[in-house]
Amino acid sequence: MSAINTVAPPKQATEKKSVYIETFGCQMNKSDSEHMLGLLDDIGYSQIDDKNDADLMILNTCAIRENAEDKVFSYLGAWKKIKDRRPGTMIAVGGCVAQDEGTSLQRRVPYVDIVFGTHNLHRLPDLVLKARATKESVCEVFQELPEDLPEIPVIRQSAISAWVSIIYGCDYNCTYCIVPFVRGREKSREMDVIAKEIEGLGLGGYKEVTLLGQNVTAYGHDLDPKVHLGHLIERIGKIDQIKRIRFLTGHPRDLNPEIIDAVKNTESACEYFHLPIQSGDNRTLRRMARGYTVDFYKRCIDQIRTKMPNAAISTDIIVGFPGETEQEFMNSINLIEELQFDAANTAAYSPRPHTPAADWEGQLSQEEKFERLRFMNSVVTDVAHKINKRYIGRREQILVEGRSDRHPERFMGRTGTNKIVNFEGQESMIGQLVDVEITTANPWALRGKLPE
Ligand code: SF4
Repeated sequence: MSAINTVAPPKQATEKKSVYIETFGCQMNKSDSEHMLGLLDDIGYSQIDDKNDADLMILNTCAIRENAEDKVFSYLGAWKKIKDRRPGTMIAVGGCVAQDEGTSLQRRVPYVDIVFGTHNLHRLPDLVLKARATKESVCEVFQELPEDLPEIPVIRQSAISAWVSIIYGCDYNCTYCIVPFVRGREKSREMDVIAKEIEGLGLGGYKEVTLLGQNVTAYGHDLDPKVHLGHLIERIGKIDQIKRIRFLTGHPRDLNPEIIDAVKNTESACEYFHLPIQSGDNRTLRRMARGYTVDFYKRCIDQIRTKMPNAAISTDIIVGFPGETEQEFMNSINLIEELQFDAANTAAYSPRPHTPAADWEGQLSQEEKFERLRFMNSVVTDVAHKINKRYIGRREQILVEGRSDRHPERFMGRTGTNKIVNFEGQESMIGQLVDVEITTANPWALRGKLPE
């Protein structure tokens, strides 16, 4: 909770208040929460870590899976008790569930003071002030992002590594995915605006940026003139202070060779690609409407590995998609073993509102899905362990992020390939690029020591 990057003038000074934010879901949501803090700072709200003392509690929600959505209502139930104990405390709900449900959420949880969507984040201060003044519940959800994207202030949670949104929304319509309904169509930010923001981050001491979007590989196709992610990476690569550029997450269909070349030729671009495959079976991919085949995906991986043999590749995979046969599931397992992913975010299929697959026949039982998921996780773990063991004995440069959560006497950083490395270091190394020798490896992280 350290660095502040205000990119818009303060809106309005007011009495000091406190805000607590709980964030569910992906990096986009975490980034949005940093922007909420920036916006609220303008009207006098400072972040605190204990919700019991907060004047305003915000739940930034995720709708990607049913259990994430269920969690929202159990959190709100607990927060109501805090509100009952401390009259005057306000509760706001934002993020994807709020965007999807809007007024029905307001009706379902009438003690919530503010409901706001993903498209009108910039309106949060006005909504808070309105709810405060009227003491009535306020709900505002825009159906689309504003035509001119406002630049929103931000209070970042790290002073070393920053998330920077480069594209919002998604133009695909995968048959299981609620994202296009809650995040809208693709809208890229202008390259000059992004570059200026990142130059400011570099001057502010940041060493790493992660370019964020639901589909970053589609970046720039909607700009005039058209550009692509490779252009943006090359441009940011010229900012001296930024030592590492990452990007998350992309669609295989939009990964053109120029993007791969830009990563290869830009010194600060990390050789790490997160490329969701979702299934290793062609019939399932077709029914998911992913728009590519297993062979197409393999060619993408081949292009990356031919140009960058040491690149790390991670993926997302869904198990138990409606109608997925045992053999189709095994095709995903075989692909994980064949392509040797460094990591995979696996998930049991979860039917979501507005999505065609939710109504299809052939829904698998929870037991079946979780049995497949357990098996897949064991395969992913074995493959990741095997890959990580290859790092033993190597000297790796890591960007030191801070102390390890589990072992505070140690420090942790990441390799360019996104491997977590724990090591015995010094406080002065935080924020620095440091060489370490890798001594041991488990499936999730590496241990290292400073070279003698
Ligand atoms: S590309 Fe990703 S975000 Fe877009 S619809 Fe498909 S799964 Fe959802």
